[in-house]
Amino acid sequence: MKIVVCAKQVPDTNEVKIDPVKGTLIRDGVPSILNPDDANALEAALKIKDVSPDTTVSVVSMGPPQATYMLKECIAMGADDAYLLSSRAFGGADTCATSTTIAAGIKKLGDVDLIFAGRQAIDGDTAQVGPQLAQRLGLPFVTYVQNVREVKNGKVIVERQLEDGYEVIEVKLPCVLTAVKELNTPRYMSVPRVLYACDEAEIKIWNEVDVELDPADCGLNASPTKVLKSFTPPPKGKGEILTGTINEMATSVVAKLKEKHAI
Ligand SMILES: Cc1cc2nc3c(=O)[nH]c(=O)nc-3n(C[C@H](O)[C@H](O)[C@H](O)COP(=O)(O)OP(=O)(O)OC[C@H]3O[C@@H](n4cnc5c(N)ncnc54)[C@H](O)[C@@H]3O)c2cc1C
Repeated sequence: MKIVVCAKQVPDTNEVKIDPVKGTLIRDGVPSILNPDDANALEAALKIKDVSPDTTVSVVSMGPPQATYMLKECIAMGADDAYLLSSRAFGGADTCATSTTIAAGIKKLGDVDLIFAGRQAIDGDTAQVGPQLAQRLGLPFVTYVQNVREVKNGKVIVERQLEDGYEVIEVKLPCVLTAVKELNTPRYMSVPRVLYACDEAEIKIWNEVDVELDPADCGLNASPTKVLKSFTPPPKGKGEILTGTINEMATSVVAKLKEKHAI
């Protein structure tokens, strides 16, 4: 079985601060990490490989050259190989152009049985790339996958997370699944794999020529999304702590809501 995992290198948002004057993100010195949902996606693929050792797991990413470090981390976790789609032509890509490029990379890998992506990236946060990828490749997809029950006889049975439960879905392979964090706990990198990733593993870097894309179909040229304005929401005002008995506090809440014409 051939599995592809889409992985994005993202800034660790726990470390990102906002410039109070300009209202922009301060990215300097912010470490880059493997997008958390993508670590769950990779773990799901590796679990399938654990029980079916003839499985290969390839990781594909689109990003700048430094994303090779994140891809080496994926190899150290257990992926067989990794591919970085990187070129100036890919710069300025919105989700539409991103999915076109990743789909072209996956096509170059040949017949694939299963594609995993994360539900969403913690920086862009759109959750669009997985479904767009499926559309570009003409494949069925299931989002919000919280459990992979079975992969057998050309089908996969998964649980799709809902707000108050889950649905069980059977899909024919090949298909695209997007992972949520509840799917699993990603494994640690092992020492031998870290050594292999650092010393031997080669990350293949592909540009638009390698994946047979016209520059007009990638990057900014193929991005219909236009960002009109970006801003930091004003900080919330200080809350008010009410004191007194339950009745006094409830009376006070009702008076305040009436004052604001909320009731
Ligand atoms: C007009 C515009 C211009 C932009 N210009 C740039 C730019 O110049 N440079 C830049 O870095 N970003 C740029 N972006 C952001 C870029 O479009 C998004 O980072 C990217 O398309 C992914 O969207 P997302 O982060 O919302 O991913 P989501 O849709 O939330 O991600 C879902 C899943 O898809 C997969 N995935 C997403 N992105 C990638 C990827 N790159 N490689 C592999 N797998 C992936 C992952 O598995 C991820 O968990 C721009 C966005 C817009 C709207």
